[in-house]
Amino acid sequence: MTSVKAKAESLTPMMKQFNRAKRANPDALLFFRMGDFYEMFYEDAKVASKVLGIALTSRSKGDAGVPMAGVPVKAYEQYLFKLIRAGYKVAICDQIEDPKQAKGLVDRAVTRIVTAGTITEEELLDRTRSSYLLSVFPAGRRTGLAWIDMSTGAFMVTDIAPAGLADEIGRIEPAEIIFPEALADPASEFMIRLRSATESPLTPVSDWHFDPAHALDTLKEQFAVSTLRGFGVDDESVGVSAAGAALLYAGETQMDKPLQVGKITPFLRDDHMILNRASRSALELVANQRDGGRDNTLLASLDGTRTPMGSRLLRDWILLPSTSIETIRSRQGGVAELMENPSLRGDLAEALSRIFDIQRITTKVLANRASARDLVNLRQSIEALPLLMDLLESAHSGILFETRSRLDSLEETGALLGRAIADRPPATLKEGGLIRDGYNGELDDLRSIRSEGNGYIRQFQEREIARTGIQKLKVSFNRVFGYYIEVTHANKDMIPPDYIRKQTLKNAERYITPELKEYEIKVLTSEEKIRDLEYRLFQDIREKVCEKARILQSTAEAIAVIDVLLSLADKAAKRGYVRPEISESTRIRIREGRHPILEAAMESGTFVPNDLDFSDEARLIILTGPNMAGKSTFLRQNALIAIMAQIGSFVPAASAEIGLVDRIFTRVGASDDLARGSSTFMVEMEETASILHNATEKSLIILDEVGRGTSTFDGLSLAWAISEHIHDSVGARTLFATHYHQLTGLVDDLKGVVNLSVAVREWKNEIIFLHKIVEGGTDKSYGIHVARLAGIPVEVLDRAARVLKDLEFKSPDLNVNRSGKAERRDSSVQLGLFPPGPDPVREELDTIDPEELTPIEALVLLQKLKDMTQ
Ligand code: ADP
Ligand code: MG
Repeated sequence: MTSVKAKAESLTPMMKQFNRAKRANPDALLFFRMGDFYEMFYEDAKVASKVLGIALTSRSKGDAGVPMAGVPVKAYEQYLFKLIRAGYKVAICDQIEDPKQAKGLVDRAVTRIVTAGTITEEELLDRTRSSYLLSVFPAGRRTGLAWIDMSTGAFMVTDIAPAGLADEIGRIEPAEIIFPEALADPASEFMIRLRSATESPLTPVSDWHFDPAHALDTLKEQFAVSTLRGFGVDDESVGVSAAGAALLYAGETQMDKPLQVGKITPFLRDDHMILNRASRSALELVANQRDGGRDNTLLASLDGTRTPMGSRLLRDWILLPSTSIETIRSRQGGVAELMENPSLRGDLAEALSRIFDIQRITTKVLANRASARDLVNLRQSIEALPLLMDLLESAHSGILFETRSRLDSLEETGALLGRAIADRPPATLKEGGLIRDGYNGELDDLRSIRSEGNGYIRQFQEREIARTGIQKLKVSFNRVFGYYIEVTHANKDMIPPDYIRKQTLKNAERYITPELKEYEIKVLTSEEKIRDLEYRLFQDIREKVCEKARILQSTAEAIAVIDVLLSLADKAAKRGYVRPEISESTRIRIREGRHPILEAAMESGTFVPNDLDFSDEARLIILTGPNMAGKSTFLRQNALIAIMAQIGSFVPAASAEIGLVDRIFTRVGASDDLARGSSTFMVEMEETASILHNATEKSLIILDEVGRGTSTFDGLSLAWAISEHIHDSVGARTLFATHYHQLTGLVDDLKGVVNLSVAVREWKNEIIFLHKIVEGGTDKSYGIHVARLAGIPVEVLDRAARVLKDLEFKSPDLNVNRSGKAERRDSSVQLGLFPPGPDPVREELDTIDPEELTPIEALVLLQKLKDMTQ
């Protein structure tokens, strides 16, 4: 900056203008509009040239040596997006007066600051998901959160315990996070937590944004209310600080243009099933574990929506299943009604497929960025509304009836757009072609002057040919010379004296006449007038659409609901899903359940359905069975069915009763958790700890191979103790798949435990997977059989079989010790294992009173003894 100052005197006025704008936005890259380019200077130019791979040049003339790089205005969005993605903020400095009118230097000002969380350019947004700016305000025991989607106006607020921050961030998936500057110390616990939770840009903002009183005032002013209680938000809550800051920051990026946010909605956690990050990921709800994409996710499997609004809403529903029986039943009612009525489904689909992204078009209209093409899309969408409303006229389910009443036919707006906007307008706004003939008298007049032009030129040419006798005389137009008369050199002698020579070509001469010049001025000014008038008319129309923004938004929300219900009904009908019965009990009873994603990927009829029964007598299910038998599939399928049921969907089963689930916890053992390369035993234990602390009687816990990341005895003892704790103290419904078949011993002591296993048939040294869940545990791991299937050489397999026999003979307790009580080991086996003479193991053994030991202590001790013999 100092060098800039030093040189300031020698800079041109324009560069001084630049420096002023830059000083006001020191932390943003400044896009400085110069003609057809946005130019960047100094450091900004260097950064941009590196990030964007564009040429770094330098200013010549007055500002010689100033580094410069530019992007064309016509295609600036893609460059902007790249910079935002790379974590930069961009300030857009536009020409705010018409260069044609400007006397001297064109006035410029920053009109907008673009950050990752405040983009509203539709082209830059993923149409299938919301784009949130998240504001985080830690205040002691609670952390305030607020998130706002500037492209749709959605605005939510809540507060959470600090430990839940990562989970919430994972669910909201914000595009940008703001937090108080005072907390920006990279070594603080807060920052570490934030960083590990997300890869989104983290933007510190001045602390006063979060000041409770100031934040509250900001919100009250925005909504023109004297208290937020009407929205169900407590004025004193920490969420208010976060929300006020979000609104202020968002406002700053729009240069304090009023934001189109009409309400704030408290996010009530009790109304939703809580899915932590591990569950969302392991159950592949919206992103798969392979590459984070959408393929093979629950979302992909249920998404047959026809509008972007619907697609976004379905995603929201999946990430936030409901825990309100009323809400769930109401959605089910809608799905059921549509399911019973295939022709209605077809007609609705037809109507919906004609509807564009009304939500985001409306936001663009409000931001004065909607193009004529956007308005054409809006018109087409509005034209589909009467049909949509007609179709739902006789809907009897509560939700469809109520949703229909929120649709507005927007006739006036539709008619205006129909009258005013041309069918195929260009993408730009200043080149004319936007407005239909007949909409505006003045415009029609100007246009007829222009179109008379062609006829006039033809006549003029004929007249001149007749007058001069030059048969090859031609009247044409080009951008440099305007209209001209062209005569070949051969006819040079015949030209009349009033022709004024303009240009000599190789074999022709070009002339003008006063009459032609006069005509040209008339045509060209009409052309310019047309463009200006069209632009003004267009702005008026956009203004009129603005007035309907609220109605457009609520209509768009209603369309989204219809779209999602229709999609769920389509899938249910096509795949034979049933309506689950939802209750307040802690039962879960699924008959012939299927895995919604796997089933769809397999040949029809090959997926083996399985039952599940949770009740007070069966709360902890230990599922054993060889690798590849179908344990993980069964676990996930049941969790997915519960989620589907609570979003209001029908489920892949013959029948299902789901006692409301308040949270789903999923812990997938280290070696099974392929997606998270970083997964360690530590992570596994942390997640398990969180489950034990947070699960309730109404929760569903999925444990898949817990305890694998450590030695067998360690792992087994932990798994055992964890199971006991869940059973005795937590009481959650738990599905525990394990290769520790020893855990089946839990059933002897704990009354809520049930053993299930996946059936396999052994056939000539091979095993055949039946994928059928049956009662009772297994006592084998079948690892060698699986190894055979995987193609391990026969010699290795034979050797492994012999070693296994040997091991089983030497430590029979691992197979027999099934009661969970400490068991005395047969001393003869011990003797066989250890060498005679003074022996540390024997000494250790002598000090033990087995009757005093708990099962865990016994196992730990066993490990210790084993270690001593190594
Ligand atoms: P495990 O967790 O017991 O090792 P998985 O659940 O990963 O086994 O299942 C292994 C494979 O078996 C799956 O990829 C799938 O192809 C098949 N499978 C599992 N369950 C079923 C089922 N119910 N019907 C048909 N195939 C199944
Ligand atoms: Mg598995």
